[in-house]
Parts: sequence; C-alpha cells; structure tokens
Amino acid sequence: MELTKYIEANPLHKQQITDAVLYAENNLKNLKRLSGRTYFQHALAVAENLAELNFDYVTVISGLLHDVLEDTQITREDFLTKFGSEITTIVEGVTKLKKYTSVMSDDARRNENIRKLIIASAKDIRVIFVKLADRMDNLTDLKFLPAEKIKKISQETIDIYAPIAHRLGIYKLKAHLEDFSFMNLNPQLFSELSKKIAFREIEQQHILDDIVETLKKNIDPLNIQYRIKSRPKNIYSIFRKMEKQNKPFEEIQDILGMRIITATVENCYSILGILHTMSSPVPETFTDYIANPKSNMYQSIHTTVIMPDGVTVEVQIRTEEMHKTASYGIAAHWKYKDTEKSSVKIRAFDEKISWLASVIEWQENNNSNEFLAGLKAELEFDQIFVFTPKGDIKSLPAGSTTVDFAYTVHTDIGNRCHGAKVNGKMVSLKYELHNGDIVEILTGKTAHPSQDWLKFVKTPTARSKIKNYNKITKV
Ligand code: MN
Repeated sequence: MELTKYIEANPLHKQQITDAVLYAENNLKNLKRLSGRTYFQHALAVAENLAELNFDYVTVISGLLHDVLEDTQITREDFLTKFGSEITTIVEGVTKLKKYTSVMSDDARRNENIRKLIIASAKDIRVIFVKLADRMDNLTDLKFLPAEKIKKISQETIDIYAPIAHRLGIYKLKAHLEDFSFMNLNPQLFSELSKKIAFREIEQQHILDDIVETLKKNIDPLNIQYRIKSRPKNIYSIFRKMEKQNKPFEEIQDILGMRIITATVENCYSILGILHTMSSPVPETFTDYIANPKSNMYQSIHTTVIMPDGVTVEVQIRTEEMHKTASYGIAAHWKYKDTEKSSVKIRAFDEKISWLASVIEWQENNNSNEFLAGLKAELEFDQIFVFTPKGDIKSLPAGSTTVDFAYTVHTDIGNRCHGAKVNGKMVSLKYELHNGDIVEILTGKTAHPSQDWLKFVKTPTARSKIKNYNKITKV
C-alpha cells in the first residue's frame, strides 16, 4: 500500500503522518545506505510495510522515524517534545534491539536476542511490528553487504523473526521474511524451486477450476455470498518439507489448497456441510479453529477432502474477519477508535493476552495452565518478564519477589526456598524483581514457608500456597 492510500484511509491523522514524512525526509535524505538508497527511502519503505499490514498510525509513524534517534544528531528530548512518549518509546525500543541483534552466532546468543525482544515488546508490542517491517525491507537491500553478513542476517531472520511473525499470527509477513531470507541464503535453489512451483501451479490450474466449478454448483443454491481463493505458496516451507522428508520437489506430495471466505460463521458451517456431503472427508484432517481459536486468535475450519473425481484438496473455511486476522495477526485487531482513552486500555489488555499467550506457547516446557489461570487477575498490574538460569521465561506482576518467582517455577521450589540469587548476586527473599532479571532459587531439604512471606508476596498463587502449607503442617 502506498502511504498516500493509508493517509486517505486515516484522514484523522493526516497531519501527523505528513509531518513525520517531512521530518524523516529532512533528517534522513542525505544519509546513504551501502546499496545507494537513502535512509529516507528505507524509512518510507518500512512505513509502507506497516501501512500495508494496516497498523495504527502510531506504528506507521514509528516506522518512518525508527532510524532517527540512532543515526542523526537529534536528541531524545527534542524528539520526545515533537512526537510524544508513545512514539519515542517505540523508536527507542527498536534502536535498542538493533544493538543486541547485530552480533549473533551460537544458541546462547540467539536466546539472548529472543530475551531482549520479549523485554522490549513488554513495554509496547509495536516495537516488534516495526522491527519486523524494518527487517523485511533490509532483506530486499542486502546485496551490497559482505557475503558473510548477508548469510548471518538471513539466517537470523529465519531463526528468530519469522517465528515471531508466526507466533503473532502475521502469516503473510512470516512467509515474506522466510522466502526473502531463503533467496539470500541459497539463490540458485530458490530460483529453481520458484520456477518449478510456478510451473506446477499452471499445470494444476484446470484441476482447481474444475473443483471451483463443482463447489459453485453445490453452494450457489444456498444463496450465500462467498469467494474462493487459492492459497499462496510459501517457497521456504516447501523447501523445509523436502528437507524433512529427504525427497526432491517432484516427490513431495502436493495437496491442492483453497480458501472459502464468507460473511458469517453460520455460512462457514453451511459451506462445510455441503462440502462434506459432496466429497469424502479424509479422516482426522478436520480441525475447527472457529470453535477453538489458536492463542494468536487465528480462526478457520480446516478439512481435507477427496473430490468426486479423486483429487485431494485442503480446504480452509473462514469469515472475512477471520481472514483479516489470519493475514495480519493481532494487527488486524488494532482498529480500535484510537482517539478514545477508554479503548486504549481495552486494546492494551487484548494485546497482552495474545502476546503473553504466544510467549507461553513458545516455552514448550512451561507449566502454562496454572499461569493462565492467574493471568486475568494479574493483568490488571504491569507485567515483568524474568528468566530461569536455563533461560525459560516467566511472567510476573510488577513488584513480584523472588518467592513469587519460586512458586511460579514449582510449588516445591516455593515451599523449600531459603535464598535467591538475582543476576548472580545473593539477594533477600523479599527482593523485588525487575524486567530481564535472571533468578536462581536456592532450596533446602528442611526449609519451609514462613507466615512472614505473606507480607511481601504479590501473586495470588504464592499467597494461597503459603497459606495452604501452613494449614496442612499445623494439623
Ligand atoms: Mn532500519
């Protein structure tokens, strides 16, 4: 989307956006990247990536200005006065991330990067959106860097940024990030594969046309509005499939895919009913993400069917609204009236839930049920993110102590803790944790909870467990 189209669609913020464009132009037009493009052209491209994903105007402006604090003489104070604290926080967050992610090699480094990303996003999740859009444009502009650096940036994108886009449900961006990185990492294989995929698509077009024709015949009598779309190919994911199955492209079973998009949930189920009557559903391929949405809010009905003529096709059925969410992830839910103070709070709440949920999902070995139970209550407070010595993430309300942390890890750890180290230093049990702290709990076989702990613990979980323990042992 051109930025001008975005401005037309957001007339309320026309002035602010145009001001930011001018400001970016004045300050960045004389700075050149290795490719010869100016920093301003890059900034504009990043903002356009964000506009295309339909983010709010604060995110788009932050995209325009994301390099300003780091690469010009402009002071933080001047910037803050001109653009306000929201945009300043986001731009600062992006600037900080740059420093962390520029060096990167082994697993430890990678975990460190993910850690910093999560902390930055805890302040304002839009930091991540800008960072992803920034990375997207950088990938198109790498060819003048040394080969080693191109490889590093592309690999990092596949390892960290694409999975984040995926977790946030921004599938469109995820596919772009992956395919561009793959292109940089293995240009020859990339072009070979994309040609083969394109060729196969042409070959299959008439099969798809037939299926659409059959579907139409059956659905049209219902008199409901719908549209059928083919599913865009993610070249990198096909490559991954080849690697996993250790097969050449020709032997990868290619299941045709299509999407049926309609207005209402009711329509979705009507269409599903018809589809399952006119074809044979493949057992165990049916998943109803409408009734059971993914934690990143993704919704759709998935089913694989064999058509009357024997062709297998994967079908996704969803509403227009769900389609938006699937393409833009939580960005699609950004369209609250951003002028009303009250809705800002709702928005923040929604954001936190979905973001935290995806962070939790990410941590495979996390005991997330217990955590989710307390989440709603605890979201009233600000959250902090802290880490176990192994690098697992725990989220706690601001003001939580080492004892709260201990109970988050495990009830036994809480009950047996008698000391704690934060970032390698001994601290008292009532020590208040901060974002990014690495917390190690020291336990003893004979240690047990003290009533005194109730004076300083912050989480309902810790409180109830301390009370419980004392009840049980007093009997
Ligand atoms: Mn940049």
